[in-house]
Amino acid sequence: MAPSGSRSVDCWRVLYWIPVLFISLIVAWSYYAYVAQLCIETIENTGEKIVYLLVYHVLFIMFVWSYWQTIFTKSMNPLKEFHLSHSDKELLEREDRRESQQEILRRIAKDLPIYTRTMSGAIRYCDCCLLLKPDRCHHCSACDMCILKMDHHCPWVNNCVGFANYKFFMLFLAYSLLYCLFVTATDFQYFIQFWTNGLPDTQAKFHIMFLFFAASMFSVSLAFLFAYHCWLVCKNRSTLEAFRAPAFQHGPDKNAFSLGTSKNFRQVFGDEKKYWLLPIFSSLGDGCLFPTCLVNADPEQPSSPSGHNPSIKSAGESHQFPPKPLRESQSRLLSNGQSEGSEDRDTRGTSNPALTIEKET
Ligand SMILES: [Zn+2]
Ligand SMILES: [Zn+2]
Repeated sequence: MAPSGSRSVDCWRVLYWIPVLFISLIVAWSYYAYVAQLCIETIENTGEKIVYLLVYHVLFIMFVWSYWQTIFTKSMNPLKEFHLSHSDKELLEREDRRESQQEILRRIAKDLPIYTRTMSGAIRYCDCCLLLKPDRCHHCSACDMCILKMDHHCPWVNNCVGFANYKFFMLFLAYSLLYCLFVTATDFQYFIQFWTNGLPDTQAKFHIMFLFFAASMFSVSLAFLFAYHCWLVCKNRSTLEAFRAPAFQHGPDKNAFSLGTSKNFRQVFGDEKKYWLLPIFSSLGDGCLFPTCLVNADPEQPSSPSGHNPSIKSAGESHQFPPKPLRESQSRLLSNGQSEGSEDRDTRGTSNPALTIEKET
């Protein structure tokens, strides 16, 4: 039988759905107000009515689809390699001294592609999930688990926004903004008629008025949020990293994961253009390992690649990953940029070509 404590926690979790319910009710009402009251009841011109309904339904479907995906995509857990083995757990429990525990964690981390540290330089370890946190992974207290490339916990979707659903979240912001802008623009002339008494005296006029107020207010707040996340995507930063730069052996570095705007975009949206606008998962990588361009020499990183042009170094430090295997999509992310314009200047060293990136100036 489940303990009563866990049952009360489950009860609280039901309350987390209230913001989602609130948004869903507003969307359902806006559908009724726009389709039934504005298009069918009020607009007399058949051509205008058909065009409005067609465009509206395309935006509505894309908006609801991406919202659904953001809510119901389960956050990805770190791979099992990052979890402590039974013997390591016992070893860690036996040690009381923090330095000895760090020594054990450092030994385990040596075989893993982990480059970020805590602010004090310690190995990032989650004692709730009993795992070494992969780079950009954080423990979410609301979800009670470690979330890969955690961006933030969003109450409006009752889910963590992270590696698994960040693309869906971006599309949700984009389509909800387009939805609100379209409703605001097409409702505007009827909203003016409301104030000039040009509308018949039915209940439709009040729906039209409130629809304009709601859509325009949401447009403004969504525009700010969407613009901010576009900036984050271009810089390859999560919201958490924008507030506190990720720390490495050599110290904090806010630009460490940035590979240039185009590659940063493709890391989230993928290589295939046909998937960019669809809420279908196409992000590159596995969420545990992210290519970085390390700004300063890291004691853990091998020295500069052989055959590297020293003049490039003055324009921007060049660094190399330890020779740990990259997954196919990550290798692609690093190698594709060669055919691109000056935006993504990635110079590849001869000693370990796939793993060397040139830091952007
Ligand atoms: Zn955790
Ligand atoms: Zn969360």
